[in-house]
Amino acid sequence: MHSIIKLPYAYNALEPIIDAKTVEIHYTKHHQTYCDKLNAGLSGTEFEQYTLEDLLTHYPQLPDNLQWVVKNHGGWLYNHNIYRQTMTNKETTPSQNLETSISKSFGSRMNFEKEFKEKALSLFGSGRVWLEKEWNNLIISHYPNQENPLLYGKQAILGIDVWEHAYYLHYQNRRADYINGRRTLINRDIVDATLHN
Ligand code: MN
Repeated sequence: MHSIIKLPYAYNALEPIIDAKTVEIHYTKHHQTYCDKLNAGLSGTEFEQYTLEDLLTHYPQLPDNLQWVVKNHGGWLYNHNIYRQTMTNKETTPSQNLETSISKSFGSRMNFEKEFKEKALSLFGSGRVWLEKEWNNLIISHYPNQENPLLYGKQAILGIDVWEHAYYLHYQNRRADYINGRRTLINRDIVDATLHN
């Protein structure tokens, strides 16, 4: 059985950047619902035993009816787990290792942040912006709906939800303000550990 990650902070811990109501609804409704749907879809099949990462990485090899379930419900679950894990209300400082990796790939941290924001703002409709790794390269991408780097054989390092449900209560149409705020909540310790382990 798959499960949603335990929320690593209280509903109101991310205020004023993300309001408590948004965190609560996003976590208890949006996140949980699709986990339940994934479990229901896999129930009674031989694919129940696989990890979510394995299912997503190998999804083209699944039977047709399960491809849809894994890509949409599994993708939704995975993406929200990453979104939650890489967010914190505690101040985290990038390690030297992380700074070096970012500079090597993007020139500087400023360039990285600029490109990340551009990718988030240029995503038409719903989806997420990602920092992903392919071989030894770090890339910033955006994917629509429930898609994620695993579907394309890449590793997900950081993913930010830019579906309207992630920010609309507080920011309405101001996606750029949400992205600017959300950026300050990145858990750099987790990003560093994912990248260098
Ligand atoms: Mn979401």
